[in-house]
Amino acid sequence: MTVLRKNLIDGEWLGEAGSRNINPSNTNDVVGEYASAGPEEAKQAIAAAKAAFPGWSRSGPLARHAVLKKTSDEIMARKDEIGRSLAREEGKTLAEGVGETIRAAQIFDFFAGETLRLSGEMVPSVRPGVGVEMTREGVGVVGIITPWNFPIAIPAWKIAPALAYGNTIVFKPAELVPESAWTIVDILHRAGLPKGVLNLVMGKGSVVGQAMLDSPDVNAISFTGSVVTGKRVAAASVEHMRKFQLEMGGKNPLVVLDDADLAVAVDCAVNGAYFSTGQRCTASSRLIVTEGIHDRFVDAMKERLDKLVIGDALDAKTQIGPVVDQTQLKQDEDYIAIGRQEGAELAFGGERLERETPGFYLRPALFTGATNAMRISREEIFGPVANVIRVKDYDEALTVANDTPFGLTSGICTTSLKHATHFKRNSEAGMVMVNLPTAGVDFHVPFGGRKGSSYGPREQGRYAMEFYTTVKTAYTFAG
Ligand code: NAD
Repeated sequence: MTVLRKNLIDGEWLGEAGSRNINPSNTNDVVGEYASAGPEEAKQAIAAAKAAFPGWSRSGPLARHAVLKKTSDEIMARKDEIGRSLAREEGKTLAEGVGETIRAAQIFDFFAGETLRLSGEMVPSVRPGVGVEMTREGVGVVGIITPWNFPIAIPAWKIAPALAYGNTIVFKPAELVPESAWTIVDILHRAGLPKGVLNLVMGKGSVVGQAMLDSPDVNAISFTGSVVTGKRVAAASVEHMRKFQLEMGGKNPLVVLDDADLAVAVDCAVNGAYFSTGQRCTASSRLIVTEGIHDRFVDAMKERLDKLVIGDALDAKTQIGPVVDQTQLKQDEDYIAIGRQEGAELAFGGERLERETPGFYLRPALFTGATNAMRISREEIFGPVANVIRVKDYDEALTVANDTPFGLTSGICTTSLKHATHFKRNSEAGMVMVNLPTAGVDFHVPFGGRKGSSYGPREQGRYAMEFYTTVKTAYTFAG
């Protein structure tokens, strides 16, 4: 029997069965059943968060520290079970699922610490006898809207700072991964959050998400997802004069120069392009390779790809799990067909795979002979598909790397300090990696991009404060 997971509204678990969650490694396996909220529930959740804000925003650091620390401890203690459940519903491997769960625990721990470190400034006024204080306060009701590809880490890196800085929350997770979202909310609820401080509204983006966008009582929205939805969030937020923050797609370049260590370059490219089934906003989907190393790099890539174990996410031997669902699989296959029509050569993979259980298995695809003008080089595919773009030298590589509407991450593999340094300074991306995959970032430093990838202040680390607080300047004349 599958358990029904309900929405959390004003401290009560509510709702009837609305949607089923299917394991992408085995479509016969139903992970669970979940309540699906409508606009009315969304309104109730927003009202509850609004009512809870005065109390929570004045609760002080100790109360917030206690909840966040307890949450971190429970997530860490249950990392294997939660990580397994995440891998079951999303399709990333067990190691990736557990790794992501540990990361969520670390994020809650980090922001537990931040509750005790919030500081302001005090300066003398230009007027004699007057003091000026600059303090930070919570923004109010924060709407949190998340995608399916990091089912626990992304909710954690939004919920933890929102709570740490005294905000209340309406959280709407992606439809495909409700179990991880429910689990994190359940842990936070039991850790002692007062009612209404955190509300969970699972359901359709076009219904629940839209109700959040349309509400004048949501004071800020933190969104991660596609560019199309991000633009909707932006337009609605401007309409309501609310604060908003968007993290969206990527088409991240990994430059490989002639002087690169070939083994390092192949490790970076395989990890960056294909791990998590290529379903990462930070994936290296454009491999920009200079002429002198091009053929050796392509041969070594094919050899490595041939050895990758693609299969059930819950099998410990699996290195690449299935694609998340049928819609994403179709999108990946459509882009593979587009790449061929555009004249790129499918040098490896790209075909559906049969496994013991019915699932969305796709062999990682590598295109060669791609140009940067092709659609496969300009549009985010969000699957295990990467293109090799051959270039003459470093200067051309940098130009091609920056010639994209996106700007989330970028990377370079080189043993030249001169080129590495020049690339770090001139890459038009929010995060730059040298001899490292474009995906895989630390939890205590800012995360975010430029151009069409991101909008608004950075997430994570101390920089998260910019979004989740508002500054007050107070003047005092003591006589
Ligand atoms: P999506 O835009 O389809 O959905 C994201 C969220 O928005 C979901 O919760 C969805 O239900 C909700 N939503 C949909 N319509 C809505 C509406 N009208 N109003 C309000 N909310 C609505 O994205 P996805 O397919 O879940 O995720 C994949 C995308 O996320 C990719 O483009 C990927 O690059 C991006 N992503 C970006 C980052 C980053 O930090 N830059 C991280 C992970 C994923």
